[in-house]
Amino acid sequence: MHAETVAYFSMEVALDDEVPTFSGGLGVLAGDFLRAASDMGVPAVGVTLLYHQGFFRQELDAAGRQIEHPVRWIPADRLERLDTRVKVVIGGRPVVVGVWRRVLTGVGGSTVAVYFLDTQLSENSSTDQAITDRLYAGPPVERLSQEAVLGLAGPAMLRELGHGEIATYHLNEGHASLVPVALLSDRLGGMVADASSADIESVRARCAFTTHTPVPAGHDRFDPQVMVEVLGPELAVGLTRIGCLEHGTLNMTVLGMFFSGFVNGVAQRHGEVSRAMFPRYRIDAITNGVHVSTWVAPSTARLFDRHLPRWREHNTMLRYAGGIPLEEIRTAHAEAKQVLLGEVARRLGVSLDPEVLTIGVARRATPYKRNDLLLSRPDALRALVERVGPLQVVYAGKAHPSDRPGKALIEHVNAAAKELAGDVTVVYLEDYGMSLAALLVAGVDVWLNNPVAPHEASGTSGMKAALNGVPSLSVLDGWWVEGHIEGVTGWAIGADLGAAVTLPIGDAVVDAADGAELDRVLAEVVAPLYYGRPDDFTAVCRFAIALNGSFFTAQRMVGEYVDRAYRRSGGSDG
Ligand SMILES: *Cc1c(COP(=O)(O)O)cnc(C)c1O
Repeated sequence: MHAETVAYFSMEVALDDEVPTFSGGLGVLAGDFLRAASDMGVPAVGVTLLYHQGFFRQELDAAGRQIEHPVRWIPADRLERLDTRVKVVIGGRPVVVGVWRRVLTGVGGSTVAVYFLDTQLSENSSTDQAITDRLYAGPPVERLSQEAVLGLAGPAMLRELGHGEIATYHLNEGHASLVPVALLSDRLGGMVADASSADIESVRARCAFTTHTPVPAGHDRFDPQVMVEVLGPELAVGLTRIGCLEHGTLNMTVLGMFFSGFVNGVAQRHGEVSRAMFPRYRIDAITNGVHVSTWVAPSTARLFDRHLPRWREHNTMLRYAGGIPLEEIRTAHAEAKQVLLGEVARRLGVSLDPEVLTIGVARRATPYKRNDLLLSRPDALRALVERVGPLQVVYAGKAHPSDRPGKALIEHVNAAAKELAGDVTVVYLEDYGMSLAALLVAGVDVWLNNPVAPHEASGTSGMKAALNGVPSLSVLDGWWVEGHIEGVTGWAIGADLGAAVTLPIGDAVVDAADGAELDRVLAEVVAPLYYGRPDDFTAVCRFAIALNGSFFTAQRMVGEYVDRAYRRSGGSDG
């Protein structure tokens, strides 16, 4: 093993839909990170958990309500089971942890192993076997037990597997924050309470932490009783003595930041917001990116193959998309649109019109994302269609099973769809996952995103759309603050409010104002351009590829982590 190996720890890693151990953006980002690392020959390994019931499969009933089903899948069909075992103490009991592997092979032949930890072993009690049943489910004790498997068993597993020298442990979000605790405990033979500042510094030199959540409620926190129950009194005393708790509470973000020599947010704006939230920490920003060859539609790939040599190895080649004739951009997009419309027809029996301006809205259904904003003023939409031309909308997205307001949003979208039938065709596709996302980001004409700023840390689906030549219409939040050039790469909804303004979620006045601005930009700018000046519209599509597709790549992102997070002075000693 190379001494500079990076171990990337993430509660979810999205390889493909057949390994359903992810819920959404965080897992897809982790998968894209590891895929890009394999392309670039960066020595890395990924560590995550294997959830036997996955996240959930989404079905919509006749009333447009979400129904959740456990996912049935057979890990042995998708992953390689290894014999290696490690033990970890959880809740005072020894828990045996097993492991599965998938090896990713990059474009140049380099490989990255991804390990899935698993407690469903006959040596364990039924309670402990259930730790790795489902992603983001269960009460706090179960959640922290999962994080203990990832963070405490993960480093031991890498050692056991022969990945001896790990130069950097990259903690992707607070779920992985027990990793440095395991490193410290190893160094001190379990006596964490004895840690000196030199011990803590040596852990910091090897850890990097990425935060993804700009909302305080989004950060994992565990009460002292839960911490003691899962981690044991000794470790709880140790963490208290070190001073890495938040008023006695185990805040996983604070823990990760405390033990990491490099900390970052996932877009420049998110960095600013995070610095304001955690003023005691030095927080950098590395903007997310997406794995280009995973997210290009086949027709886009063929377009690039004709004009941008070696674009898979060198994603920056996309910068030269400006030389591609508009007609070819249009043809490639028309093909991707047909593929999407074919899928809509196959699933729902609804035939959408390939000539009609088609808007895509696919994201987790949760109040700050306001999935229903476009449909909340049906009369405005009818007026737009009357005046400028027809409109179709394709929706997708799951709500977390315990997110009632999120589920209500899905219902509201489907109710509004019924009300608008005949004027605007709105369809909702079930069970948003990677393959559906790939069809959507390439097949619609405009990608809509309207979160309440500044709650979107980055967002990555708009980046996937951009590299397929699909421009965004979006609130200036997350990555769009950087990617947006008005009328060139897409369009903004409203003004940039900066990092200092936090708009309230669920506020009727804010939503009405943003909704009216969305209606206006759509009616006065986007739809007239699409119907009236098709070449100018396609020029925007081309700039989306050249300016945004070329930059918001996982290749650029991994390169930034290597330069700034992994090659710190005092980090690796080679
Ligand atoms: C890309 C992706 C996401 C994240 O997209 P956002 O823009 O952050 O909403 C979520 N889910 C799936 C399946 C994706 O492919």
